[in-house]
Amino acid sequence: MNSILFAIGEDPDRQGLLKTPERVARAYEELTSGYRTDPIALINEAIFNIDYHEMVLVKDIEFFSLCEHHILPFWGIAHVAYIPDGKVIGLSKIPRIVDMFSRRLQVQERMTTEIATFVQDTLNPSGVAVFVEGQHMCAMMRGVKKSGVNMSTRSLLGIFKTDASLRAELLSQIANR
Ligand SMILES: [Zn+2]
Repeated sequence: MNSILFAIGEDPDRQGLLKTPERVARAYEELTSGYRTDPIALINEAIFNIDYHEMVLVKDIEFFSLCEHHILPFWGIAHVAYIPDGKVIGLSKIPRIVDMFSRRLQVQERMTTEIATFVQDTLNPSGVAVFVEGQHMCAMMRGVKKSGVNMSTRSLLGIFKTDASLRAELLSQIANR
């Protein structure tokens, strides 16, 4: 950290910066806590065998991540839907799954896929759909400098991939705020 401060032309010994390396280390520990989340502990005792075969949608899940190219924030909302096939997961766990994959160095496309794959592997449902809308500080602060640039990504698995009317129903539910 001191070498970064030095490289940008700062004096790492000036009073306001003395504790900065320590503060940054603590902040990044939190921002990258997803690497240290134990997925087994996360889902522990929150999977229930229930005979429910309709769509489950958890929408507007806020997330914060760091782009792996610039280590600058990107953030936004994620929507996670699945069609259970005998197993459901506790509602509070879905946002924690999003946190587990967002609190890392990421690219939005991979994060979207990782969330979907994890839900698929955990519940073995008939289908999973993950939609992510993100704003990227590295696009807003540098280069094109356009604020509010929104990037949308999605990952569709199982029946969401093959059933267009189901997908349309999901999209209308997401749009219905
Ligand atoms: Zn970036």
